[in-house]
Amino acid sequence: MVGLGSDDKGCGPDCPMRGASVWARLVWAAALIGIVALLVATTARAADPFASWLEALWPEAQAMGVSRKTFDAAFRGVRPDTSLPDLVLPGREKAAPSGQAEFTRPPADYLDRAQLARLAAEGRALLVQHRAALTRIGAATGVDPASVLAIWGRETAFGKHRLPHDAITALATQAYLGRRKELFRTELLYALKMLEAGVARARMRASWAGAMGLTQFMPSEFFTHAGDADGDGKTDLFDSVPDALFSAARQLAAKGWVRGEPWGFETRIPPNADCALEGPPGMQSLAQWAKLGFTRADGRPWPERLLARPAYLMAPAGAHGPAFLVLENYQVIRRYNTSDLYATFVGNLADRISGGGDFVTPWKPIGPQRSELVRRIQDGLKAKGYDIEKSDGFIGSNTRRQLGLYQRASGLAVDCWPSQAAVAHIVGAVRR
Ligand code: CA
Repeated sequence: MVGLGSDDKGCGPDCPMRGASVWARLVWAAALIGIVALLVATTARAADPFASWLEALWPEAQAMGVSRKTFDAAFRGVRPDTSLPDLVLPGREKAAPSGQAEFTRPPADYLDRAQLARLAAEGRALLVQHRAALTRIGAATGVDPASVLAIWGRETAFGKHRLPHDAITALATQAYLGRRKELFRTELLYALKMLEAGVARARMRASWAGAMGLTQFMPSEFFTHAGDADGDGKTDLFDSVPDALFSAARQLAAKGWVRGEPWGFETRIPPNADCALEGPPGMQSLAQWAKLGFTRADGRPWPERLLARPAYLMAPAGAHGPAFLVLENYQVIRRYNTSDLYATFVGNLADRISGGGDFVTPWKPIGPQRSELVRRIQDGLKAKGYDIEKSDGFIGSNTRRQLGLYQRASGLAVDCWPSQAAVAHIVGAVRR
């Protein structure tokens, strides 16, 4: 540090500053302080990889039509939010990836009957309230009012669930530290484009994955499927119910929604069949399922007009809960959100909004299952030549099917559900 006092040890008899006025000394010192400050700032920027990473986005943002002003304003004060799920944080790589639960929730928790009944009652009221818009949306997209309402109900409990994150922060964090960086980098660029298009930053509240608005739109889809349905010439996915529902319906239509068809039916598996028939590989026409003895759980006949349609068996709790024969629209909902439980929730909620839909077969109390146990079963099945692509700890359609096939081949009771008994049998552990 440069001193200013007369006993300044930094300035001896030959010092050019000796004899200079106090003002000159002040100017000299100020210049030195300025240089040091500049050096510190430059070093800090160079040592802030996040700031450098953000700056590297600029050429792509510019190419997408984002102005420098929008770009700078978007990232002012933004820092990675390391409390978000699904990140890979330095030094914590070995821990279970966040966002991947240690336990998998039992289907009965996710498909909670009380919650579904509550949402269905609200959905029926909203069906009346927004009937005119929903009728127009149905005519334009082919997606029935109950199904599009069910998406809204699942995504944000009809707008009551407040999205907790700033979209830019969430997306920048996921693109910088997340497990799926490329996907979120693209979404971040589209979020900047949304700002450029005039969407207010304060409105852009999002899930941890950057989904926004009443039906949780990803920014890229804002530019492909969002649209104006209330006729004010603007697309508002945050406050306009018609705009948000029209946009969600257009997403479903783009993913192949079949006009006038249900998503599926709860079915009863006949005694001569089992849950190992689950999954897309077992796809066949409803007529063929009927011939095998599969009936509708509510006892009604299969609709004649759908008998030729392909369907597959889906039993989210294996033999411990309801089973379904699902049609094309079930797969469309899965393309919207890749999860059997999500698609079953939306389908069942749509049925309930239409006046029916409670599960006939009860969910048995199977409790949460350890992801680690599921992985051991997956590894074990794979080692025995069963068709398991990856051991991810999730109990998906294929894991249930392969486990069911193993149980069938081993002469065990076929329940298609991971358990201690199953893992013990597969890995050959000695049990007392
Ligand atoms: Ca509008």
